[in-house]
Amino acid sequence: MVITLKDSITKEELKDMFIYVANQIVDSEDYLTEIDKRIGDGDHGTGMSLGFREVIKELSSKSFNDTNEVFQSVGITLLDTMGGASGVLFGTVFISGIVDYQGKETINLKGFAEIFTKSLEALKRRGKANVGDKTMIDALQPAVEALLQSSKDGLGLIEGFNNASERAKEGMEYTKQCVAKFGRAKSYGKKSIGFEDAGATSIWIIFRAMSKWLGVHCK
Ligand code: ADP
Ligand code: MG
Repeated sequence: MVITLKDSITKEELKDMFIYVANQIVDSEDYLTEIDKRIGDGDHGTGMSLGFREVIKELSSKSFNDTNEVFQSVGITLLDTMGGASGVLFGTVFISGIVDYQGKETINLKGFAEIFTKSLEALKRRGKANVGDKTMIDALQPAVEALLQSSKDGLGLIEGFNNASERAKEGMEYTKQCVAKFGRAKSYGKKSIGFEDAGATSIWIIFRAMSKWLGVHCK
């Protein structure tokens, strides 16, 4: 039997995937809170959960003309509801990549790679952090690199996001070795070594959720 894997998803499937991602973040609230308590102020879980609960409501109640509108809806909702620095940062992850990108009825691995590459660039410009500074960049950059490489290698959505999720996890683990240079964790200096960064953990959860959803729905 030949199993054909889908190499693109529709705007409706993208919406369903982001609702799944949002539910995974909401379910991780306590876990993220515990992580942020150790070298931060403990508000990361609540902030993320608040923002992504609104994402679920927003996406569920609307229909969209193209894939760009789905990304935009997630990003704007996070910006509007999470507040603070991380609302802007996580909003950027979903909004900035679609600037100049032509939204279509469907999106493939190359499209995701292009969008998240631009988001990463915008995030670095905005937040001034780079790899090794113990932020969400440490998980996002390797995940984006994996999407780009997988797309160049001609891999499909499932394999591409599986690679990205693995690399995001490694990036999150890597933050344990780093000294925090940004956010509230910065004040802990070398005492931040040994603990993973909360934002990097959220990025890993987001990529793991996309990978899981695609694994089930693209077969
Ligand atoms: P706050 O720091 O305001 O308490 P959160 O706890 O919600 O906000 O989010 C903290 C996360 O934000 C950190 O774990 C880190 O990953 C991310 N972060 C903080 N500053 C930056 C920055 N300049 N660039 C990228 N990510 C950042
Ligand atoms: Mg915090």
